[in-house]
Amino acid sequence: MTRALFIIDVQNDFTEGGALGVDGGAAVAAGITRLLQQHRGEYALVAASRDWHSGENDNGGHFAVDAEPDFIETWPAHCVEGTEGAEYHPDLDTSAVDVHIRKGQGVPAYSIFEGTDDAGDSVTEVLAARGITDIDVVGLATDYCVRASALDAVEHGQRVRVFTDLVAGVAADSSTAALAELGHAGVVIAESTVLDEAAS
Ligand SMILES: [Zn+2]
Repeated sequence: MTRALFIIDVQNDFTEGGALGVDGGAAVAAGITRLLQQHRGEYALVAASRDWHSGENDNGGHFAVDAEPDFIETWPAHCVEGTEGAEYHPDLDTSAVDVHIRKGQGVPAYSIFEGTDDAGDSVTEVLAARGITDIDVVGLATDYCVRASALDAVEHGQRVRVFTDLVAGVAADSSTAALAELGHAGVVIAESTVLDEAAS
């Protein structure tokens, strides 16, 4: 077993006070930092994604223009490249991150698999290069980018866990539904304390 950690979109715009902030986002950032302090050695790869949109256009209809966002397919402008909102939340310690993935340049992109690293390599290529077989997924938001990333990971043949204490969602109903859907798809829904149990 060779395990990776995916840290999905822990960015200022997705945390409290951001353009599309979710409740509990900052706590998720701090919680992931604690996980890394205690369990970094158990991961062969730590990959963090950022939504990274163009400020020049509506990113393929992803940003609501001349209409109210529906918060399903259209959203307030968020995570525009080079802005403070697109940066990682300050409570997330990024020093342990091996690979930074950016996605959504000019298009809607929910899954980390839609992004590339700084060298332009796809996530699939990065996972193959490290021989990854198992992935733990944490971050924001449960009902959108965490959901899409975990489903894609299963699709790519990975054994996947999502830690419910280290995710936060846009809405309660859709977050509950997303976790149920992930469970049906074969994702293990757990709390990050399973790492402590495994270590003892
Ligand atoms: Zn976006």
